[in-house]
Amino acid sequence: MEGSKKVLILGSTGSIGENTLKVIEKFPERFKVVGLVAGSNREKLQEQKEKFGVERTALYSEVGLEGIKKLIDETDFDVAVCAISGSAGILPTYWAAEKGKRLALANKESLVCAGNFITEVAREIIPVDSEHSAIFQCLVGEKKEEVDEIILTASGGAFLNRENLEEVKPEEALKHPNWDMGKKVTVDSSTLMNKGLEVIEAYWLFGLPVERIKVVIHPQSIVHSLVRFRDNSVKAQLGVPDMRIPIAYALSYPERLPLKGEELRLNLFGLNLTFLEPDIEKFPCLRLAYESLRMGYPYPIVLNAADEVAVDLFLKGKIRFTEIPELIEETLNRADFKPPEDIYEVAEIDRKAKELSLEVFRSWH
Ligand code: MG
Repeated sequence: MEGSKKVLILGSTGSIGENTLKVIEKFPERFKVVGLVAGSNREKLQEQKEKFGVERTALYSEVGLEGIKKLIDETDFDVAVCAISGSAGILPTYWAAEKGKRLALANKESLVCAGNFITEVAREIIPVDSEHSAIFQCLVGEKKEEVDEIILTASGGAFLNRENLEEVKPEEALKHPNWDMGKKVTVDSSTLMNKGLEVIEAYWLFGLPVERIKVVIHPQSIVHSLVRFRDNSVKAQLGVPDMRIPIAYALSYPERLPLKGEELRLNLFGLNLTFLEPDIEKFPCLRLAYESLRMGYPYPIVLNAADEVAVDLFLKGKIRFTEIPELIEETLNRADFKPPEDIYEVAEIDRKAKELSLEVFRSWH
């Protein structure tokens, strides 16, 4: 192993950022944290800065986007972990991509909203999301033209077995059966929008037409995703649901790190793995995500923006759970935007689409 890798973490105080630091902490000879960017948690950022001896840090609430750009531009790194959540992560991910280094990509919105711009400038993207990491791992050594379809697994979220979703309360949607994640992505898991966004991400990461990207419900979250090849062979990647595994892989690929810990070891005995077809009547968000991709760019931006607004309104108790997809669908139907010409126009469309969703919301009440 030659020298240590210099790691920049965008979104260090969130759940992916913290897990990244947990991995790095175990391998001090392999990684050096050279920069940390966080949103508003000043105390935690300060703690991380001291613990890992990091020279450069930036807090979005203090320095704004310009301060973050400056830090990215001035930091010499080998890998950028892009883990800012939401559309706030798009520009920082793009700026990191422009530096021509590896992106360990966890921010969904950057590919959903700006997949064309980011894949154009990025030299290497290793996905951190467990599903895309699984597909990436299944594709190592394979030829793209021999891939028949990719199959993303979805846990099914908190309401897989619940019939009536009208009365769902925010605290119920915030309980995820298998993964411990941030609020937005947990609600997105319960509506299946998270999987919808992952379909769009997969489209950009793996370059397959949308009809060949499938979703299967797999409640145990042990099989992280699968690839079916033209000879009918199917490859899958399995593991316990713990983000440290895909994070470590994205940091060290093509090498695999010796991750220790009994809790990380998959016990094959007693596994009872099941796979179900997703119910798109009950979870329209998944259908809407496919539709936005078929409608073409920039509709995935509109989908994503409307979802951010809808989830926020739901968490504040202003709309029902079942109104999340309704708000998104109506926003998609009313939207009329031209594709953005550069990354900066993406933010513009994102903002306009959010305004439009709020208008839709107000028109309901
Ligand atoms: Mg995922």
